Amino acid sequence: THFEQEVSEEELRERPPVVTIMGHVDHGKTSLLDSIRNTKVTDGEAGGITQHIGAYQVEVDGKKITFLDTPGHAAFTTMRARGAKVTDLAIIVVAADDGVMPQTVEAINHAKAAEVPIIVAINKMDKLSANPDRVMQELTEHGLVPEDWGGDTIFVPISALKGEGIDQLLEMILLVSEVGELKASPARSAIGTVIEAQLDKGRGSVATLLVQDGTLRVGDPIVVGHAYGRVRAMVNDLGRRVKDAGPSTPVEITGLNDVPQAGDRFVVFEDEKTARSVGESRAMTAIQAQRSEKQRVTLDNLFEQMSQGEMKELNLIVKADVQGTVEAMAASLMKIDVEGVNVKIIHTGAGAITESDITLAAASNAIVIGFNVRPDVNAKRAAEEEGVDIRLHRIIYKVIEEIEQAMKGMLDPEFEEKVVGQAEVRQTIRVSKVGTIAGSYVIEGKMVRDAGVRVIREGIVIFEGELDSLKRFKDDAKEVAKGYECGITIKNFNDIKEGDIIEAFVMEEVKRA
Ligand code: GDP
Repeated sequence: THFEQEVSEEELRERPPVVTIMGHVDHGKTSLLDSIRNTKVTDGEAGGITQHIGAYQVEVDGKKITFLDTPGHAAFTTMRARGAKVTDLAIIVVAADDGVMPQTVEAINHAKAAEVPIIVAINKMDKLSANPDRVMQELTEHGLVPEDWGGDTIFVPISALKGEGIDQLLEMILLVSEVGELKASPARSAIGTVIEAQLDKGRGSVATLLVQDGTLRVGDPIVVGHAYGRVRAMVNDLGRRVKDAGPSTPVEITGLNDVPQAGDRFVVFEDEKTARSVGESRAMTAIQAQRSEKQRVTLDNLFEQMSQGEMKELNLIVKADVQGTVEAMAASLMKIDVEGVNVKIIHTGAGAITESDITLAAASNAIVIGFNVRPDVNAKRAAEEEGVDIRLHRIIYKVIEEIEQAMKGMLDPEFEEKVVGQAEVRQTIRVSKVGTIAGSYVIEGKMVRDAGVRVIREGIVIFEGELDSLKRFKDDAKEVAKGYECGITIKNFNDIKEGDIIEAFVMEEVKRA
């Protein structure tokens, strides 16, 4: 197929690096993208109108650099989860007055998981409260050590607002990408990835493609995700019509029969007939199967891959209620060593499990471990869509045991906990001698009387114990189903508050195959 096109050494040419800018909100990602674009766009003419097509190129010392214009690691990892490796280099922006924040850490871990080199831009250096030393100190704790301190990470102080340090930053990007020896062969037919796409009233399906190898030409028969067609018109990042686009070039194209998704791959075919039949069969498979069972990121599947020698590392994401617990868990997990298979922790954090954790897990074949925390609504949906396994626990040794057992191929315990339902507390009533009654509304599954219960506040498990009483109006109830109200009291727990979630669970015997 075209993916395996033979390429001789002479055909290979240097190609521009593709750069993504990531970092905490408000640290200046958008300002930096704007600042670079405004000062350096590859256009000799003054007043050239730049067009937003999701990516742009600049030229420095006769060399080009491509920037993806969607800041943040969500887009980056969503693409990676879809199998596309687009970025060659990540710029992590840290505001000098604010320092390392949670999303900074997230961005670093996303970049590391993708094995993409990192350059740190310390932004807002114009501010009086700027403290670059503190930023460097804090980043050292996350494995980014400046060269002056014996490490190998490049730090560039900048002010996106004043346009200061931008030239140095661009030079460093070229320096780091030279080490990577980025090559492609412009002579072959094009392959690449969708950066963004939408339906335009007048023009139909409009897609921004990043050509990653080969040259894309107007008239090429092309399959893009489940869509296909012929490249009708092609526009570059300056809004100019172009006839061809080489490696690392972003272009907007029209001519597709449907709208592809960001992260979809594209391939050019010899003739339109082949493109059409491939396109149609792809559309069919896309409809039939989201992700095959075997591809789902479950502990079982990962173990299977490991036991067949396909994988030597078990990737984990660890989330817990407080930072201290996160660290304790990570430390214990890293010590696990079963027959040469290692545990690799690719991301940790305090607080509820988020969608970003799930996309990172899907992209990196990782399991998410939640300790005293729960996935939020978006994370739950994403985990179902992506088939990512979330293992929730309350006792550290149980986590360790489960992972160890999984690695030894003995996943199933004889009894397994099963969550039967969740109720939201709408009102609380204190009754002397009885305690606090939680007037609740069952939002999922059902509440059952002899169940174990957990109280979840803001995504964090704050209590685990037993249900004491379950009532419908004044009467005792055996169970109360979704959509109904009930009164709940919990043994030895009277601190229930409005907005809390009460989760009911039972222990079930697991039948072994
Ligand atoms: P993003 O959320 O990371 O994309 O951050 P923005 O680029 O939107 O910037 C957030 C705020 O910080 C805006 O009000 C910017 O004007 C401001 N800002 C960005 N860069 C600088 C800088 O270098 N110096 C100063 N003083 N402010 C900046």
